[in-house]
Amino acid sequence: MTTAAPVPGQNPSYEDFARCVHCGICLNACPTYRLWNLEADSPRGRIHQMIHVAQTDLASIGSDHPQPQSPSASVNSAYSVVNSSRLQITKSFVEHIDKCLDCRACETACPSAVEYGKLVEHSRALIERDYKRPLLTRIARNLAFRRLLPHSDRIATLARLIWLYQRTGLQRFIRFSGMLELFGLADREQLLPKIETPFFFKELGRTFPAVGQKRGRVAFFAGCVAQVAFGRLNDATIRVLTANGIEVIVPKTQQCCGALAAHAGIRDAARDLARKNLLAFAPSGGVNNEEFDAIITNAAGCGSTLKEYDHLFTEKEPEYPQAVAFKSKVRDITEFLAELGVVTPLRPLKPLYLRVTYQDSCHLLHGQKVRNAPRDLLKQIPGLELVELPHSDICCGSAGVYNVTQTKASLELLDDKMKNIAAIKPEVIVTANPGCLLQLRAGVQRVNGRQEVMHVVELLDRSMRAKAL
Ligand code: SF4
Ligand code: SF4
Repeated sequence: MTTAAPVPGQNPSYEDFARCVHCGICLNACPTYRLWNLEADSPRGRIHQMIHVAQTDLASIGSDHPQPQSPSASVNSAYSVVNSSRLQITKSFVEHIDKCLDCRACETACPSAVEYGKLVEHSRALIERDYKRPLLTRIARNLAFRRLLPHSDRIATLARLIWLYQRTGLQRFIRFSGMLELFGLADREQLLPKIETPFFFKELGRTFPAVGQKRGRVAFFAGCVAQVAFGRLNDATIRVLTANGIEVIVPKTQQCCGALAAHAGIRDAARDLARKNLLAFAPSGGVNNEEFDAIITNAAGCGSTLKEYDHLFTEKEPEYPQAVAFKSKVRDITEFLAELGVVTPLRPLKPLYLRVTYQDSCHLLHGQKVRNAPRDLLKQIPGLELVELPHSDICCGSAGVYNVTQTKASLELLDDKMKNIAAIKPEVIVTANPGCLLQLRAGVQRVNGRQEVMHVVELLDRSMRAKAL
């Protein structure tokens, strides 16, 4: 058998797999199992397939760990013997792992504390190492994860082109021409983020002073695509923080967090970005980030990865202690504000009441276990009626680039979500992650709805700046 290099960073141990006792309690929480009712597309079924792969991988790298034993459930074999000296990951395994949203709802449901996110991301890294995807897919993945996301200048250039497409009437022309339907791109085009100028990049390196009595000092993590598509959300985040007595520093050399690369199994790209951010947020070279009370993000997907930077490095690597110190400072904006306490006066947004619902962002609820903070903040807005959304803990189908790579499944989930939303008739849909905002806005468009889709912090900012009614 040929010896493959281990996946860089932390690899799951035998115990990580063995924690799954195949009880099936997670099945009903899993969006893909709910869609297709297939064991192979459930958390339990996927873990079963991962065990086959891990078994082969541990053997090929000569691990000291005892080999995980396969459960008896019947799923496709994840590895096939190609010849006597080489094993190959099967297309079937890749498809079932690709169809997973990495939403981690199964983690919340699991009574055995299986860290499913860690397992699936490791499987994706093995696929990246050992499986040859079709040429066009390899080119697209290389362009997105290695050539685009780590380079803010390239993100800005692409954003300018999209801005021209959206603002010159070309988008309207192409939409009405039928070309998108002809090439099967209509659904994906709907998900294109609306480019917002000016880009947030111009704020990098700035310090925003606290308004009134200073209560703390934070570093703000501004995201990558968010800097061209959610710049106004970033502005609102800084306004809410400073208005509540927080000084905000926006470290100049920060980069994309690497979440999309890590979720796709492209570990080397994720590790490179993590190294740059560890340096950007600890400019003095220390490991304690003592200059800041917290590192704040308004993107649940980024926050979840930033809080797990230590998974990208082994304990022997020099970055590991820096990553542990870094993650101890990371807070989602809702988590931080709820702990801090909002002191700025909030005003009603409508003369009577505003009917609002909240869709949990998977990487905030399931990845970071933050459930109450966004709801508690929303309830502080006078005249706001918070209506619980049935199945708000089920993914909207956004899931990083899932809506682009698995568009059909993503839209099925979105259509279900919009039915649940229609049943409770909210005027505003609120969530806590830019990806979910894009997906839910596309959902409103698909049903010709009229609801506004906003981030929690945007609604707080609006209430803070509202005139007295
Ligand atoms: S709930 Fe946990 S232990 Fe039970 S099958 Fe799912 S992952 Fe395994
Ligand atoms: S991460 Fe989400 S889609 Fe994947 S197995 Fe778990 S619940 Fe299902």
